[in-house]
Amino acid sequence: MEDCIFCKIIRKEIPTELVYEDEKVIAFNDINPEAPVHILIIPKEHIPTLNDIGPEQKNLMGHILWTIKEIARMKNLQESGYRILTNCGTGAGQVVFHLHFHLLGGKRFE
Ligand code: 5GP
Ligand code: ZN
Repeated sequence: MEDCIFCKIIRKEIPTELVYEDEKVIAFNDINPEAPVHILIIPKEHIPTLNDIGPEQKNLMGHILWTIKEIARMKNLQESGYRILTNCGTGAGQVVFHLHFHLLGGKRFE
């Protein structure tokens, strides 16, 4: 997708603080963090929302969740705890229509 901001990040056309990258996903610091650790994990494939996941993406979804757990370990969040969040659709507050998971940590959540 030409105009998608996260696709531009994947193509390295927009600079970001990269946290992790492999052939299927990348992770980078959120530009407007809501917690001491606020990382976005996204598939390299342009998928607008969770609603657009088909059966062929089930393995990718597992890989993303595994990646989130590994990043949480890298950031020493496994003991203190962390939160994973995805907004699906405008009504839920989704602003960027390229599937992404927020990894939030480094503070206590109520
Ligand atoms: P949403 O509300 O769609 O779930 O979250 C989009 C997130 O992307 C927001 O937390 C916002 O701060 C982040 N974001 C938007 N544009 C950029 C950008 O250009 N770079 C980075 N690193 N984060 C961005
Ligand atoms: Zn995209």
